[in-house]
Amino acid sequence: MSIEIAYQRIADQIPSNVALVAVSKTKPSALIEQVYALGQRDFGENKVQELCQKAEELSELDIRWHMIGHLQRNKVKYIAPFVYLIHGVDSFRLLQEIDKQGKRLNRVIDCLLQFHIATESTKFGLLLEEARMFLSSPEFSAFTHARVVGVMGMASFTSNQDQIKTEFKSLKDIFETLYQDYFNASETPFQIISMGMSGDFQLAIEQGSTMVRVGSSIFGSR
Ligand SMILES: *Cc1c(COP(=O)(O)O)cnc(C)c1O
Repeated sequence: MSIEIAYQRIADQIPSNVALVAVSKTKPSALIEQVYALGQRDFGENKVQELCQKAEELSELDIRWHMIGHLQRNKVKYIAPFVYLIHGVDSFRLLQEIDKQGKRLNRVIDCLLQFHIATESTKFGLLLEEARMFLSSPEFSAFTHARVVGVMGMASFTSNQDQIKTEFKSLKDIFETLYQDYFNASETPFQIISMGMSGDFQLAIEQGSTMVRVGSSIFGSR
């Protein structure tokens, strides 16, 4: 199947109120250009070095770059000048560093808090209580350049659809809880639920996803 057809097949399954992030990790910039030419603007990468390299190669294009992988604090400075959305914020100290780099650049950087929803212990993410602790802290209120705009999560790697569904539902519940308790203002930027990948994005959309991250179903297997 051509990449054009693969992309269109996915795009056709995504309702207009759900954003599609095309995950281009490990794939060459030439393929990104092909998908860009079909109208796609949001692309996701999971490694800082690869993200920076592709952003440079494709700097003529108005791509919105998403950092979807685990991010180390000492690497925030490399992506801070251009990144559109950081999905994997899983600690207060990381958010603190993003705020610091945003201040330095005079740029507000949008972030998602990553939650641990899978039963596997290998996946990164916060627990609800950890997030509560820092969202209610005075330090968090003082942030001016790191802006929390939603949540992100990854379901377990399993074929058990009920389990995946339950995990996605738990992220939606976390979002609702945080929305009520910390972001319940008019015009709150807290709007995004980033969940769903090639194997499970339909299920994620059913459970309230507003942003899916699809890689192999568009670009082919890695
Ligand atoms: C690789 C990756 C994806 C996309 O996975 P596919 O199964 O190829 O669609 C989504 N989210 C994250 C965090 C990833 O690392």
